[in-house]
Amino acid sequence: MIHLVSGGAGLIGSHIIDDLLRKNNKVICIDNFSTGNKKNIIKWLKDDRFKLIEQDITKTIDLEVNRIWHFACPASPTKYKIDPINTSRTSFIGTYNMLELAKKNNARILIASSSEIYGNPKVHPQPESYFGYVNPISKRSCYVEGKRFCESLALDYLRIHKTDIRIARIFNTYGPRMAQKDGRVISNFISQAICGKPIYIYGSGDQTRSFCYVDDLIQGLKKIMDSNYNLPINLGSQEELSILNLAKLIKKKINDNVKIIHMKELEDDPLRRQPDTDLAVKLLKWKAKTLIEDGLELTIKNFLNN
Ligand code: UDP
Repeated sequence: MIHLVSGGAGLIGSHIIDDLLRKNNKVICIDNFSTGNKKNIIKWLKDDRFKLIEQDITKTIDLEVNRIWHFACPASPTKYKIDPINTSRTSFIGTYNMLELAKKNNARILIASSSEIYGNPKVHPQPESYFGYVNPISKRSCYVEGKRFCESLALDYLRIHKTDIRIARIFNTYGPRMAQKDGRVISNFISQAICGKPIYIYGSGDQTRSFCYVDDLIQGLKKIMDSNYNLPINLGSQEELSILNLAKLIKKKINDNVKIIHMKELEDDPLRRQPDTDLAVKLLKWKAKTLIEDGLELTIKNFLNN
């Protein structure tokens, strides 16, 4: 089977590629390295089963493929806010291109959506049936609306062209290979603590996230791809943690002497995030297993090695 992984040099894409090649599939990785890192896929560059296409997914592409894993899009708020118009283009045009390719090849396509589609949720935890509470005009909107559009477009391809779509709503994910300058909270806090610098929290730190270890997420994504279910499925950890407690945990693990400094809160920062994963449990028999304590150990080790 030939798999195309868009954004294959990123955290999630590169772990999927490892898994696919371990199972002896052929893999084409498309990445423009805007946020992905060549280091994440370098070990496959000389493998005959692997092909790298260095290209932006907003450019059309013609390939023969059986399955498409569509991850390409900057996902860190720090990164996607730098060039929001391009972030929107990546979601709109990039997803259109990937769906056209799936349609042409009769290929199955898994779209990486996000917990961001729930915005600043008024329902907690968030089930797939919740439509979200989204500000359409904030600085986060380029990503949030982009992901909502991905889902909408994918469902239209299913309804009109019978394209074989799958949709994963991915909650915060972390693990080895996160870029040290990624800008997201776990990489920032680990990098700051390793360098003996203060840990900077935006706002009080009472806001929560539920962090899923990347290996768990990969198992969930594979199960969605292999399922017969076309509608969105939440994938994330049940372990909800405040950002302040995350800072304390990382500080304790790396350097308890670093200070915690509170900065001004970010505009439109969601206050709570926790997936309702009943659907994944029921349909896929999937649940995130790795405790944050253990996942952080492995991630910190990876940061120290780099
Ligand atoms: N955050 C923080 N310090 C940082 C980076 C992030 O306090 O250096 C907070 C941020 O305000 C948010 C949470 O951590 O409440 C998660 O942010 P991140 O950018 O990792 O992802 P998000 O879930 O917001 O997309």
